Amino acid sequence: MSLHGRTALVTGSTSGIGLGVARALAEQGARVTLNGFGDPHQIEALVTELSTTHGVEVAYDGADLSRPEEVAAMVGRAEERFGTLDVLVNNAGIQHVAPLDEFPPERWDAIIALNLSAVFHGMRAAIPGMRRRGFGRIINIASAHGLVASAQKVAYVAAKHGVVGATKVAALETANDGITVNAICPGWVLTPLVERQLEDRARAAGTDVATESASLLSEKQPMLAFTTPEAIGALALYLCSDAARTVTGASLSIDGGWTAQ
Ligand code: NAD
Repeated sequence: MSLHGRTALVTGSTSGIGLGVARALAEQGARVTLNGFGDPHQIEALVTELSTTHGVEVAYDGADLSRPEEVAAMVGRAEERFGTLDVLVNNAGIQHVAPLDEFPPERWDAIIALNLSAVFHGMRAAIPGMRRRGFGRIINIASAHGLVASAQKVAYVAAKHGVVGATKVAALETANDGITVNAICPGWVLTPLVERQLEDRARAAGTDVATESASLLSEKQPMLAFTTPEAIGALALYLCSDAARTVTGASLSIDGGWTAQ
């Protein structure tokens, strides 16, 4: 498939899943705006690498998406930069692990702001332009935790269930506008977000990251393998394809059987 002539904005794409998705879109010829935090030199190198490897324009927007006004402004800049915004991937997210009665309220607020509210603000800002142009693909990166719960992740699970709900509402409201809105629900993907959890577990248990990787997978996934950011990128490409034009309001699991249980 080709995305030549298409434009995309992928939030939280300086690492992990977002970078995998941005890479997949650029590989197919889309002009891409990256977003996320990180070392400015590394981000500059990433922009250059992606654009030279794939021969497409790549831009970077450093908006802090925990701030609603920055989300809307970023969407506006992305549309202005390339003239359209065809594909919006709401991916940026954070995690905090603690029992509910010890969960720091400021961590709850931060997770809800980024993992849930930024998705709302992004869709709210992007849909009018997509509707005017008669084409849009919105892909919200939810989680297996958008469908089922785990202990100690109250804010994350609440936010991701919210993303699945908001995805369905947006899909209903855009069903005849040439726009599809879907959620991707990954199980474990080996990214910095999960690496930090593995390091914390290894420290607490006095083990190592390899041991904790095996036990993390076996706790949740029948299939004892991590999903890769490249595989999430491939699923996102499918959702952008013409073949997927009637796939909307769906929550697509890519989770090694986690939610089949
Ligand atoms: P990651 O930590 O590798 O990447 C997160 C990205 O979000 C980074 O680019 C970071 O700079 C950016 N970010 C953080 N705070 C931000 C802010 N305030 N504004 C803008 N950008 C910000 O994490 P990941 O594992 O790639 O996670 C990406 C998404 O996938 C998240 O929504 C996460 O919940 C979801 N997810 C991850 C897994 C997994 O196993 N890794 C599983 C299911 C869902």
